[in-house]
Amino acid sequence: MNHKKVCYFRIPVGELETNTYLLHVSGSSSCLLVDPGAEAERIKQSLQQQGLTPVLILLTHCHIDHTGAVAELARIYAVPVAAHEKAAPLLQDPFNAEMAAAFGLELPPAADRLLCNDEVLTAADMSWKIWHTPGHSPGSICLLSGDLLVSGDTLFAGSVGRTDLPGGDFARLQASLDRIKTLPLHTRILPGHGEASTLEQEMRHNPFM
Ligand SMILES: [Zn+2]
Ligand SMILES: [Zn+2]
Repeated sequence: MNHKKVCYFRIPVGELETNTYLLHVSGSSSCLLVDPGAEAERIKQSLQQQGLTPVLILLTHCHIDHTGAVAELARIYAVPVAAHEKAAPLLQDPFNAEMAAAFGLELPPAADRLLCNDEVLTAADMSWKIWHTPGHSPGSICLLSGDLLVSGDTLFAGSVGRTDLPGGDFARLQASLDRIKTLPLHTRILPGHGEASTLEQEMRHNPFM
């Protein structure tokens, strides 16, 4: 059991202002690095400023705006990369290669660790439950620890992720949102773009909920 407080630090990166998150336990110098989407140098500086060293790079899904700095940071820190088993094969697929070229970003390496639904990931003194939440993409996941939900591009404050990209599926997104609705209302939502929210706020104001 882990009773230490889990903290997060948000770094919006790149043209699409993708949220990179540093997740850690208060007082610890180890963190999980979620969705380093671009601007490796800025992420590196934030890590230094926060006194944190990543032990694992974790991807909420495979889109290039969430993975553009993965290759560089995985090299710098020599850490493995984890993604859902359905996202992993897409990390280097032609659509992502095209998008990487369009944004001038480097394609991520293959995932070292494949995650599956309801798995509990233990790293950096924390336990995160992995929820497979397809819809925005086939291998989208949410990460759950205590009252924190890292929701990727599944759920945003006031909106949801688009489902018109390859592999997107609105019916599956709705089913994923239905699962999120089962969480306590005080759950804090840390989305892949934009400001944090709470489940209560989203139940009241998000038309997709
Ligand atoms: Zn996306
Ligand atoms: Zn995104």
